[in-house]
Amino acid sequence: MRMKSPEGALTALDSFLDPECTETPYVGDTIPPALKAQAHSCAALAYHEKVFATPAECAEIVVQERRFQRKETMELGVGAPAFAHFVVALDHANQSVQLGLVSPIVLRLGFMMRDIGTSLGVDLSQTVRSRRFRPLWRAVDRRLEEIYVEEWKKQRRVARDPAAYVCAAEGCGIRGEKRQALRSCAGRCPPGLKPRYCSKKCQKQDWSRHKSICKPGYVGELPSITGPAESLARGIFELGDSVDGEDMENTSPPVAGPFTSTADDRDEMPFRLRPAGPGQFIDMPAPNAPGGSIRLTSNTLDAETLRVIRERARMRARGQGAG
Ligand SMILES: [Zn+2]
Ligand SMILES: [Zn+2]
Repeated sequence: MRMKSPEGALTALDSFLDPECTETPYVGDTIPPALKAQAHSCAALAYHEKVFATPAECAEIVVQERRFQRKETMELGVGAPAFAHFVVALDHANQSVQLGLVSPIVLRLGFMMRDIGTSLGVDLSQTVRSRRFRPLWRAVDRRLEEIYVEEWKKQRRVARDPAAYVCAAEGCGIRGEKRQALRSCAGRCPPGLKPRYCSKKCQKQDWSRHKSICKPGYVGELPSITGPAESLARGIFELGDSVDGEDMENTSPPVAGPFTSTADDRDEMPFRLRPAGPGQFIDMPAPNAPGGSIRLTSNTLDAETLRVIRERARMRARGQGAG
């Protein structure tokens, strides 16, 4: 029965996680760490549900919170804001990692934490981030490393001439005389895996492929971090305000607010490209030329025009082959 609401699930999990639990006998001291880790992952999932609850679900959650009177919930305050639940979810995710379990929900929350840092303008590569969530940060870093290594291997398999700077969009074919002739992605992908494009159009075309490297673990939306939530959010990165139970209680409004999304097109894709120098070129078929192709170099024609000219040359070459 009680498993049907996040609060009911959390009450059941308290017998594994809360030594002061009175509802059911506490058995957390007697279970293996792997099972305890799973309980933390489940608790993280239950709090994640609270974070993304609709206004109608929030109203029901408040009823359940009053009914079950869990210690953790009472400390946070009935009807605590979404972001306060997010921080508790991070705590459980962190403890799951500490006990050796990096579950999908753990990674999802870890990547959300990373995206929140970015939306706060935190340079995550430069900060110590936080001592409090260090195991969770390490889990995120390890996953990122795996993603990057996978991509690096994939790129090596399909690599053509590594000295040629080729637009990363499939089928484009525009190249640069120098690296700077193409424009690199301005997103968060690591320097060694940064794709280069001839134009924004090619960046857009390639986004479905590049997304998993540029925005790994992207969840589409984040808990709202305006108002009191911002000091909680900054606490995650240890940027001034501390985040302890008392602070959370003081900043909790009396009723649960609906979750608001901060996602927009900017979050969806880094449409920006770093500027490029001159020197883009394209090779096009020319049956009568030595080597069967000529190189069209242009600093005045745009990428689209270069491709159109190549297409015409291809059609003409095909026509000549047939005749
Ligand atoms: Zn291109
Ligand atoms: Zn990128």
